[in-house]
Amino acid sequence: MNNLNEYLGGRIFNTTELNDEQIELLLSIGGKKINAIENNVCQRCLMMVKNNSKLIYCRSCINLGRISERDQLIISPAEALFSDRSPSLQWSGELTIMQKKASEELIMAYNTGVNHLVWAVTGAGKTEMTYPLIERIISDGKRVAFCSPRVDVCIELFPRIQAAFPQVSIGLFHGKSEETYSLTQIMISTVHQLIKFDKAFDVLIIDEVDSYPLAGNEMLEKAIYKAKRPTGNLVFLSATPPKRLIKDVENKKITISKLYQRFHTYPLPQPKCHMLFKSSDYFRINPRIKLKIKKLIENNERFMLFFPKIPAMLKFSESLKIIFPELSFVDVSSKDEQRLDKVSQFRKKEIQAILTTTILERGVTFKNITVIVIDADAKEFSKTALIQIAGRAGRAKESYDDEVHFYYQSYNRQVKQACSEIKYLNRQASK
Ligand SMILES: [Zn+2]
Repeated sequence: MNNLNEYLGGRIFNTTELNDEQIELLLSIGGKKINAIENNVCQRCLMMVKNNSKLIYCRSCINLGRISERDQLIISPAEALFSDRSPSLQWSGELTIMQKKASEELIMAYNTGVNHLVWAVTGAGKTEMTYPLIERIISDGKRVAFCSPRVDVCIELFPRIQAAFPQVSIGLFHGKSEETYSLTQIMISTVHQLIKFDKAFDVLIIDEVDSYPLAGNEMLEKAIYKAKRPTGNLVFLSATPPKRLIKDVENKKITISKLYQRFHTYPLPQPKCHMLFKSSDYFRINPRIKLKIKKLIENNERFMLFFPKIPAMLKFSESLKIIFPELSFVDVSSKDEQRLDKVSQFRKKEIQAILTTTILERGVTFKNITVIVIDADAKEFSKTALIQIAGRAGRAKESYDDEVHFYYQSYNRQVKQACSEIKYLNRQASK
C-alpha cells in the first residue's frame, strides 16, 4: 500500500472497502477491528438501528455506504507525527482589540480542554480569530478540523486557511469533492465527513453551528463529539447561536466569547423596510421592486435577491429576463448542481446579480453588493435567516455601508425581531 496516508488518521472503514493486505497492514500499526453494529447501535454513526428487516442495517448513515450486522469496521490509528512548522501563521492582517481578546479566550479554552462558543456578529472576522489557536495547535504537533455544515462555506474557507498556513498540510473534504482524503494536519470539511472519523482531532472548530443541516440533526451532533479526541476540545462559531449552546454557557458547561463589532468596526447595515400593498409578483414584478432593480442596473451596482422558495424565485427570474433583458444574472438553490460555478461567476463579477434561496444566507462573502429580500415575511425566513442574510452586506471595509432591503406585505414578528436585533447589536458595539 503506497498511499497509506489515505487510510490513516482515525478513519472508519467497512472491511468490504479494503483488501486483505490493507486490513492486515492497518491492524499491524494499531488499527482496531470492531463489529459494525453492536447492541443495535451503528458503530460508525452511533445511531440506533431499527430491527425491522431480515438483515439488520443502518439507515441513518446509508449515504456513506450500507453497513449491516454482518459487517466489521476497521478504525485506523489516529496518532500522527507532524513535523515542526513553527511559526506557521503567514497571515499579514491584524486582529482588532475585540478579535484579539476572543482569540486569547480560544487559546485559554484549548489549554483547559473546555468547549468554547464564539458568538460574533456576521462579518466580525470569526475565521481570522481562530488563526492564533490553529497556529498553537500546529506548533504543538496536534491536529485540527475546521468544519461547516455547508459545502459552499468549506469551499470558501479552504483557500483562506491555506493562504494563512502555506507550509502546513491541509485537505478539503466534502461529498462533492473529487480530491481523495489524505491525512493532513488541518482538515477543512463538511460536518457530514466527521461520521467517518473516530477520536481523530485534537480540536474541532465548527462554523455556523446553528445552520442546516447540522441544527437539530442528532447524527451530525454525535459525529462531532465522536471525531474529537478525549483530551481535545470543541470550538463553536456562530452569529446566531442555538439556544442549546446558550444554555450550556449559562450552566457553565462551556465558555464564551462575544463580539458585537465587525472587523472593520463599522456597524451592521440596518435593513430598510418596504411594505408592499400588492404581492411581489404583481404585474410580473411589483412596481416598487422593479424601480429598485432598474436603479441598480442603471448604476451598474451588483445585487443579491433572496427568495423564500425555489418556484417563486424561478418565476421572478423569468419575469426579470423579460423586463430587463440587458441584466446579466444567475439563479441558485440547493437543488442546483451548477451552484458552486454560478456563485464563483458572481464573485468574479462576471454577472451583475444573483437570485438565491436561503442556501446563500450565510458563509459567503462578496464585496460591494446590495442585498434584497423578497417576501421577507414568508415563513421560510426566520429571524435568524434574516439576520444572516442582512449580514451578507457591508462585509468589506471599502463598502461597509452596502444597503439591505426587506420587501414584505406584512411587518410580522420575524421581520420586526430581525431589525430590532440588528439595532441592538449595533448599540452594544458602540458602547
Ligand atoms: Zn450508521
